[in-house]
Amino acid sequence: MRVAQLGSGTPEIAVVAGIHGDEPCGVRAVERLLDDPPAVERPVKLVVANETALERRVRFVDEDLNRTFPGDPNAKTHEGQLAHRLVEELEGCLTFSMHSTQSHAEPFAIVNGISETAHEVVPQLPVVAMVETSNFSEGRLFSEIRTIEVECGLQGSETAAENADRLTRSFLTAVDALPGDTVGRDLPLFRLTDMICKDRADTYEVFVDNFTEVSAGETFAAADGDAQVAGESFYPILMSPNGYRDVFGYAAEKIDVLTSPPTAD
Ligand SMILES: [Zn+2]
Repeated sequence: MRVAQLGSGTPEIAVVAGIHGDEPCGVRAVERLLDDPPAVERPVKLVVANETALERRVRFVDEDLNRTFPGDPNAKTHEGQLAHRLVEELEGCLTFSMHSTQSHAEPFAIVNGISETAHEVVPQLPVVAMVETSNFSEGRLFSEIRTIEVECGLQGSETAAENADRLTRSFLTAVDALPGDTVGRDLPLFRLTDMICKDRADTYEVFVDNFTEVSAGETFAAADGDAQVAGESFYPILMSPNGYRDVFGYAAEKIDVLTSPPTAD
């Protein structure tokens, strides 16, 4: 784990990259901040989490770090120990954690419950949606630390790295660590309700777009040509033919559209 800091004093804000070793976009954003450090108005902690997995370009060494929190100093796995150290490092910080995905090119935010902070900060980020995942938060960083996760774009893409940079600067501006104003936007808010499992198969197909409603009776995916038909309508989230081993993605309900508060001047 690499830990650095912008500004002096005890940080109450942190930016975390590399929770997953095969998602380099956030690391690029952190390195850019370190290469050319901006003058900050509040101290910011910068963390590159799973350096070993990053070096090997794998999601994890022993187990998925973002299913391992709170971790344990005596854990038998690399990620079990790392989770514990990361929680110690991030204690008391509002944390911005960057990921990337195989499911959706446009950035979106993931939060555990709709806190006042999420309500205020997320509509100031260049994201297309906010996804509330408290039904599925076990073992994830935000079960221990106040965290806003962002999916920056497609895994390994140049665009995801550029998005990570833009998202980080927007976050730091929204929390008054960087000067300037953010652009507010209306933001649809989704809550994950179900995991959509997939049967073991050689080929998987997904026929629908994330964040676009699927109607009851619609064929949304296939496993070896077997149609997967929606029993009831839902919004697909993090859905892709090859993202996860056992699941196509998640079903969500749309619960609100958030409007950003007007800039006070
Ligand atoms: Zn990730």
